[in-house]
Amino acid sequence: MARRVYTVAALVAVAALTAGCAQTVNGLPRAEKPDVSKVAGLDITTGESGPKPGVPDADLSVENGDGGEMDRLAINALADVEEYWAEQLPKNFGGRGFEPVKRLVSYDSTGDGVEICRTNTKGVANAFYCSLDDSIAWDRGDLLPMLDDAFGPMAVVTVLAHEMGHAVQYKLGADGGVNQATPSIIKEQQADCYAGNFFRWMAEGKSKHFRISTGPGLNQVLATMFFIRDAAGTSAEKQGAHGSAFDRVAAFQFGFGGDPKRCAEIDDQEIKTRITQQKFDVKDVDTGQGKGNPKVDDQRYLDLLEESLRNAYKQSGATPPTFTSGDNNCPDAKETTPAAYCPATNTISIDLPELVRIGTPPKRGQKGGIGDFAAFAEIASRFALSIQKATGYPLEGPAAGLRTACLTGAWAGTTTERAAKLRLSSGDLDEAVAELLADRSLIAADVNGTVVPSGFARVEAFRDGFFNGFGLCTRKYSG
Ligand SMILES: [Zn+2]
Repeated sequence: MARRVYTVAALVAVAALTAGCAQTVNGLPRAEKPDVSKVAGLDITTGESGPKPGVPDADLSVENGDGGEMDRLAINALADVEEYWAEQLPKNFGGRGFEPVKRLVSYDSTGDGVEICRTNTKGVANAFYCSLDDSIAWDRGDLLPMLDDAFGPMAVVTVLAHEMGHAVQYKLGADGGVNQATPSIIKEQQADCYAGNFFRWMAEGKSKHFRISTGPGLNQVLATMFFIRDAAGTSAEKQGAHGSAFDRVAAFQFGFGGDPKRCAEIDDQEIKTRITQQKFDVKDVDTGQGKGNPKVDDQRYLDLLEESLRNAYKQSGATPPTFTSGDNNCPDAKETTPAAYCPATNTISIDLPELVRIGTPPKRGQKGGIGDFAAFAEIASRFALSIQKATGYPLEGPAAGLRTACLTGAWAGTTTERAAKLRLSSGDLDEAVAELLADRSLIAADVNGTVVPSGFARVEAFRDGFFNGFGLCTRKYSG
């Protein structure tokens, strides 16, 4: 976050964001009450995710392959993605047929380089669609095993479904709303959205080789989207920009909840109102733990956070809670960490060491927390509970968890405002996504710390609040 001290200098990026906040974003379900036991209309399931056992491998020819596990996984994934498009492209785009990509190419970036798409693959840990020869290539030596180790086989499927999204885009051309001059952020957002289309189909049980649960399975996919985000500080206008985690997850979710036509609609206009990715600002602090990440136990920031929260929810008319440290001995709610809300006393108690752990980004190659915004959002979520109590909403159960995520998002939305003293910095929303996807996170938890089981629903509720504010949270997530 950035602390703004007595200055009112205009900031282009923030002004753009604020303009975005005032509008209803296409693709968000409007004024409809979600069933909290579902995710985008599907039951929340917790079963197995990954390759289906006993299904023969797809019969697609691959160049330069080694016949190993990673190539088999890639081929099965691409076969199913192509089956999806053969079925859905005609349905969505006026009967036009889907031509499978012409070449599939495997390579090992850790071995001798080969020439693919005018690129020498030595050291290139990547997967890509090449429009020069209509091919999809993947690195079986480094990228795929790394994704598989970190997030499971669905991470590999996610990346390849995204690449096939580019193939679809290229084949659709102007009918899909893109041409050579289209900025990369639009192409990447569409490809993420097309990947979401495919995963919806898989979640409905239609994929031959794969199955996915809408609970933990989709959480792993979203964690993969987080992993492949652009670094904080990247501008969305930069050629090659792929999007922040917040923006990428949104595109995937629009695809999961909508059809391919929805994805093809992603254009410059939509990007302007919805994309949050931005460069660092000169005022973003640098305390040596990553730009835009102040130390969360700095009392000046905690004071600004409290002020920011009071302002964000002022319209509710609720008496703000008081902050304490140490045990709260609450008679009517469980103690949660790093912050706890006690309804009986209207207090928030903070576990400072745990807050610092979450708020400290990892040093290179080491384990660590997430960042300042993850920590601040944890506190904000408990503050949001006090608002719900004052306005007569129940504080327990999944609807309370989602309402809390939405209201926390609404607070985050106010930190983009020009006059905000505690301002959102580049990377902050991605910290929120990371925290929301962690199963112990309070951002989408009720007063006792019970977390909504679907990470998908958690992130969606937070985004709803971020873009649409307080009013939508109480309407949409009224329970
Ligand atoms: Zn891409």
